[in-house]
Amino acid sequence: MNSKEYFERSKKVAPGGVHSPVRSFAGMGREPVFFKSAQGPYLWSVEGKKYIDFCQSFGPLVLGHRDAEVEAEVREMIGTAWSFGACEPYSLELAEWITSRIPWVEKLRFVSSGTEAVMSALRVARAVTGKEKILKFEGCYHGHADSLLVKAGSGLAGIAASSSAGISARMAESTVVCPLDDETLLEEVFTLHGKDLAAVIIEPLPANYGLLIQRKEFLQKVADLAKQHQVLLIFDEVISGFRMALGGMAQILGIQPDLVTYGKVIGGGFPVGCYGGKKEYMDLVAPNGPVYQAGTLSANPVGMRAGLRTLQKMEREQGWTQLDKKGEFFEKQLTDAMAEKNLQFIRQGSLFWFHQKTETPLRRVDQIPATQKESFNKVFLQGLERGVYLAPNAYEVGFLSLAHTDEILTEAATILTDVIKGL
Ligand code: PLP
Repeated sequence: MNSKEYFERSKKVAPGGVHSPVRSFAGMGREPVFFKSAQGPYLWSVEGKKYIDFCQSFGPLVLGHRDAEVEAEVREMIGTAWSFGACEPYSLELAEWITSRIPWVEKLRFVSSGTEAVMSALRVARAVTGKEKILKFEGCYHGHADSLLVKAGSGLAGIAASSSAGISARMAESTVVCPLDDETLLEEVFTLHGKDLAAVIIEPLPANYGLLIQRKEFLQKVADLAKQHQVLLIFDEVISGFRMALGGMAQILGIQPDLVTYGKVIGGGFPVGCYGGKKEYMDLVAPNGPVYQAGTLSANPVGMRAGLRTLQKMEREQGWTQLDKKGEFFEKQLTDAMAEKNLQFIRQGSLFWFHQKTETPLRRVDQIPATQKESFNKVFLQGLERGVYLAPNAYEVGFLSLAHTDEILTEAATILTDVIKGL
């Protein structure tokens, strides 16, 4: 059975044939590829075709697919126990590893996804401050919890309109949305809403609407205003955490959040999320305090051990330096070919994206050229044809892993250069 046939069957039993929207290749004019196996930097489709994978399950697989060390750890755990729903040492080991290395994570709680981590952190922030509203930034994605599926209203960051059907107006109204990269508007928003804001949440490296690298001064302003108005600063490091550096973007920027959320890399490819921060805030969580949050499969031992082994390997092998070098190597090979076709390759560490050339660096959603979909889709589809798999959406970033050797990066860059030249 080929991908087309699988997709026809799948559409009968799942909305759009998928279990998460971006997987559907919507707007690409073809059915999604169905994959059956993966190893290192590669994916194999049900047709048996091999692809170099720059999606890496949207980020968790920082070592590549089925890293041998992590696989051995997982196999051993599966032969020991799958889930206890009780106390065990595996989550303790991961929690101690993290809290002993990241000073702003004094205590943490494991959950099963980034969405849950963010939802829970916001609940803590509301409990700490006794305030209701949340400030988020246009283009930042924080999972699909009701209060965060909102987009920017027009004009001065007014109360936002919801981005999804099925969200109550009351919920959407508790979220204030501000554009990125605009200190003046930000100050006005804090002046207007500061007294009602429980938290300001931001991806310190926004990577869900392309890669919108922020100026440090802007992020510092967010932190300063939050402090000034007794608003908790939440860094959503679900993508950047343990990928950009051991301490994520907070470490790179030298800005410590009050609460932080992690996901993706922390579970080494298994469903793990985490929220944490100052002890005084985290101690409000049940059973210690009045903020209820629980999970049947929370701190699942298989995910805990996959996560710990992944992080240990990253630390031992200086994975963050290696990833940056890989990124630089890949960037060098693609920049010129892209520039010839008026495209711009951008990158931070192991995350990359490209867009039609602009005079100034893109920092906000409204600066993204209208041609983004058109230029991306061509590169994506022709790359796919020739065995390069990018995340299937013009606004998703590409992910490198330690399994992407220089040889493989050169092979992929040669294919992409060829595709770009033919545009
Ligand atoms: N926060 C950020 C920054 C994310 O990128 C994502 C997912 O892509 C989430 C939260 C939600 O995480 P999950 O998909 O694990 O629920």
